[in-house]
Amino acid sequence: MTRTVYLSPPDVGPLEESYLISALRSGWVAPAGPDLDAFEREVAARIGTRGAVAVSSGTAALHLALLGVGVSPGDTVLVPTLTFVATANAVRYTGARPVFVDCDPHTGNVDVPLVAELLNRLRSRGERIGAVVPVDMFGSCADYSALLPVCAEADVPVVEDAAEALGAAHHGRAAGSFGRVGALSFNGNKIMTTSGGGMLVSGDMALLARARHLSTQAREPKAHYEHRETGYNYRLSNLLAALGRAQLVRLDGMIGRRRQLRDRYAKLFAPVPGVELVGAEDTASNCWLTVIRVRPERSGWTAADLAAHLAARDIETRPVWKPMHRQPAYAGSESLLTGAADDLFAEGLTLPSGSALTEREIVSVLGAIDEFLSARTGASSA
Ligand SMILES: *Cc1c(COP(=O)(O)O)cnc(C)c1O
Repeated sequence: MTRTVYLSPPDVGPLEESYLISALRSGWVAPAGPDLDAFEREVAARIGTRGAVAVSSGTAALHLALLGVGVSPGDTVLVPTLTFVATANAVRYTGARPVFVDCDPHTGNVDVPLVAELLNRLRSRGERIGAVVPVDMFGSCADYSALLPVCAEADVPVVEDAAEALGAAHHGRAAGSFGRVGALSFNGNKIMTTSGGGMLVSGDMALLARARHLSTQAREPKAHYEHRETGYNYRLSNLLAALGRAQLVRLDGMIGRRRQLRDRYAKLFAPVPGVELVGAEDTASNCWLTVIRVRPERSGWTAADLAAHLAARDIETRPVWKPMHRQPAYAGSESLLTGAADDLFAEGLTLPSGSALTEREIVSVLGAIDEFLSARTGASSA
């Protein structure tokens, strides 16, 4: 009997179990408690920011981060078109309007010269630009050395969507720390999980205090329930924070396993014409997902061909994110495009990348790819 090999399943075991049981037995089951406070301190220490606020999802973290930098109804916010829909949705929650920017074809991260061009264009039209939201794609930091000066020059705050990138770095600085505020996700498929959860990380303690206030229904410190503005029920549970603390202990080990797996894919595909590992040059990536790009005119096969071969063997793969400018929910949105995200969507494939994959599962995936490639090479050389 074989079971499905999933793309990026949760990696949990005895350590998570013991942390969860301790939290349960402590009586702190509500969205408040010592594990919640400790989880915030530990993630902030790991990233090197002064503080953090734990919330119920990465999407909630993005929403509060955008509010924290002052994004308001009618503002324009720059968002990479290649991202998960949460980045754009969080912008809409604030009443602002996302404008989409294309990506670098080799990394999938936002195309910085295009950001500069778009900022100029929007400013010359007199628009109020609320934020730029770079996304650290597939666990690889955006090119902050180039991007931060562009945003500083335009005097626009950066909100870093580091949902995929906890543990990654750019020139020695940790993912999550680049903007005025960063957003992390602990969803079930991410590099580490609290089953569902997220966090804001920032050096701006006033911004974080306001986010914490908004995350708890904006309840005033009074004995009765007093509210001066509309808040949200976004706080993370103490139980889930305990799960997160156990995951954080294991984070470097889990990143190491994903990196080893990526190295094995790299070796397998190295001699194959027309196949490129997206973001392969970035040695400081957390290797969240390994993505290949297949150029059929050189390989003689498509990403979809390989996906079908693997699906028939119960091995899950996925296309890369469908660009936001292609999503019906964002039809008609203004965009500045080169075609790079469309190409990655057409030619990219996300391979099983989870740290919980067993050696047997890894061998079966690599074997199935090898079988596919041998058949293709045989056919083309015959
Ligand atoms: C996962 C993800 C999010 C959202 O995180 P949730 O915890 O699922 O709400 C936001 N942005 C990107 C780029 C993501 O990959």
